[in-house]
Amino acid sequence: MSISGPPPASVTVSAPGKINVSLQVGPLRPDGYHSVASVYLALSLREDVTAAAAPQPGITVSVTGGGPLQIPVAGIPLGPDNLVARAAAALAEHAGIPDPGVNLIITKRVPVAGGMGGGSADAAAALLACNLLWKTGLDAAELSSLAARLGADVPFALEGGAAVGLGVGDLLTEAPAQAPLHWVLVASSGAGLSTPAVYGRLDALRAEAEAAGASPAPEPEAADPRLLEALRTGNAAALADVISNDLQPAALLLSPELVPVLDRGRALGALAGIVSGSGPTLAFLAADAVSAARLEAALRSEGHNALAVHGPVAGAQPTASKT
Ligand code: ATP
Repeated sequence: MSISGPPPASVTVSAPGKINVSLQVGPLRPDGYHSVASVYLALSLREDVTAAAAPQPGITVSVTGGGPLQIPVAGIPLGPDNLVARAAAALAEHAGIPDPGVNLIITKRVPVAGGMGGGSADAAAALLACNLLWKTGLDAAELSSLAARLGADVPFALEGGAAVGLGVGDLLTEAPAQAPLHWVLVASSGAGLSTPAVYGRLDALRAEAEAAGASPAPEPEAADPRLLEALRTGNAAALADVISNDLQPAALLLSPELVPVLDRGRALGALAGIVSGSGPTLAFLAADAVSAARLEAALRSEGHNALAVHGPVAGAQPTASKT
């Protein structure tokens, strides 16, 4: 899609959901955030955002649900609080477009409030789609810095692949990962988990442990080199030994119904199972594509909303443009 020529009538961009194959969380900072060392993996469960030029000023948002996990979309804000609307407004302001007119249409496949960065994927897709629709011509670095202002996980959804995220998760370094890794996701049948609530529970758990004499959580400085090596070589068995999520105990306390599902996935042959980010989606690592398909079928036959996926996959990319 070139920057010269007439502007398109609409642009569709696809962006990936993610899991954190490792998430180390530092102590609560005075600014209310936590430093993290996160290893992100972009997965083949993707969101689509179409940005269509509107004849009149204003940013509208609509959402269609469904997808292979049958994601319900009730409760997603459709006004200016939706991350796609915030992304479009941020780009318009940055580019000096005073009264942008755009209709943003989200096709949602990533569980909402599921710890898979679905809203972040939508924001990344909306940034790229509007950049192409409006021919604003921001380069990757400019888009990434706008993305970081929208949310810590948004730069990774632009980038995709696998990456280490430091800072609040937005300072990215690519983590080489050639071979696909196969996972089975299980979407929660209950409500999602609020990310701030899960971090708050972790802080409370740590405060109790410290009152009982435990040392404070260390500042995360780097990803585990064994994990990066397992990713680089695509060695699922080695990765299974080192995946970890500091938010998992807090997420499991808030959603205890996940505990037997984690046990079940492991019993049915997963190499390892983990809460994805702040949860409640679960991610089970499988040895290969065939094992993942079998695990998906076994979990489904027991009534779980399971889906086999793989990663790494590409970040936000245009998939259609209409003139
Ligand atoms: P986080 O990125 O904080 O880890 P998450 O991946 O668990 O979040 P999301 O689905 O990204 O969860 O969204 C969390 C909340 O953000 C939702 O409950 C919803 O109120 C709000 N939200 C705003 N825009 C969107 C969007 N486009 N899609 C989903 N949720 C959105």
